Amino acid sequence: MPFEQAERLKKLPPYLFQEIDRLKAELIAEGVDVINLGVGDPDLPTPRHIIEKLKEAAEDPANHQYPSYSGMNRFRSSVADWYRSRFQVDLNPEREVLTLIGSKEGIAHFPLAYIDQGDIALVPSPAYPVYHIATMFAGGQTHFMPLLEENDFLPDLNSIPRDVAKKAKVMFINYPNNPTGAVATQEFFQKVIAFAKENNTIIAHDAAYTEMGFHGYRPMSFLEVPGAKDVGIEFHSLSKTYNMTGWRLGFAVGNAEIISGFGQIKSNIDSGAFNAIQEAGIAALEDDQSCVKEMQKIYEERLDVLIPGLNKAGLQARAPKATFYVWCPVPKGSTSKEFTSRLLKEAGIVTTPGSGFGDPGEGYVRMALTVSKERLQEAVERIQNMSL
Ligand SMILES: *Cc1c(COP(=O)(O)O)cnc(C)c1O
Repeated sequence: MPFEQAERLKKLPPYLFQEIDRLKAELIAEGVDVINLGVGDPDLPTPRHIIEKLKEAAEDPANHQYPSYSGMNRFRSSVADWYRSRFQVDLNPEREVLTLIGSKEGIAHFPLAYIDQGDIALVPSPAYPVYHIATMFAGGQTHFMPLLEENDFLPDLNSIPRDVAKKAKVMFINYPNNPTGAVATQEFFQKVIAFAKENNTIIAHDAAYTEMGFHGYRPMSFLEVPGAKDVGIEFHSLSKTYNMTGWRLGFAVGNAEIISGFGQIKSNIDSGAFNAIQEAGIAALEDDQSCVKEMQKIYEERLDVLIPGLNKAGLQARAPKATFYVWCPVPKGSTSKEFTSRLLKEAGIVTTPGSGFGDPGEGYVRMALTVSKERLQEAVERIQNMSL
């Protein structure tokens, strides 16, 4: 039957991984040993003590009922404690912390609280697709802020037209950045706060990768910068830090008024995160953090294989200071999509075309450090055997 789809579905951009998934499936069917650097999903398991906590908490009948909408008090105070020890940021667990069913859920629902029909959201490009799509689902208009290498992949706030800036209700930013691997400076965050105050814009900072810094680099929280809490919130996730992508647990922190509006939307849509998972989240945040350091070390070792290997193949990739993504420029004369297809067909390597994250991502492919260093060694050897 011809069921008419809603405009918001018709407006969806093509699914980023569709073409790649098809090609990948074909190659696997042909028996090719495919190396997947395409998806940002950690390959290693969740640390043991977190799993044990879930098992124990799942046995407790008190956890079998509806959770609280805003999250368990214990989980939220554990988040506040973690912010204090990690970033020296003070948060009121009741008013400034909200539990999310993964940060994607939160980011996708957030615009419903502050974006009306025709309102503008400022969204980086290239970027995690959810900022734009969630804005569109809420009826808003996206104004894209290009992230260019010449600006260290930070948006140039001065190039946002004045009338757009005045009308912008929300600005999404994300550092350490997916897909570029770029990091923010304190100075940049200060400019963002000044912009927000001048234009009465809410800042929504996606901080999913603050715990993935390398060689001693410790990414900062937006909320560390004076004035940040007056204008914004920060989204956080246990997914990448603790290899917990499948568990669906995240949180939003920051300005109490914004958190409250956001919480009103959520309480009308979902009924909170499973308490046993929040208990496991408490264990993740409060117990010994050596698992985080171990993961950083594993990614550093992988980078030490991938970057020199790509350089030897003639690709000008640079090691990111944070995130598990390498934003690799494509060879001259090739587009992102062409190079992604060549890598797949000629080397059996899945990568993501930069243009899939937005037009300014053209000229790059994204590689995720989600396979072992031995497999990465195999990958770079295959690339070195291509004629680039
Ligand atoms: C992975 C990722 C997330 C989503 O994390 P979940 O908490 O698993 O939903 C959010 N933002 C960015 C930029 C990501 O790469």
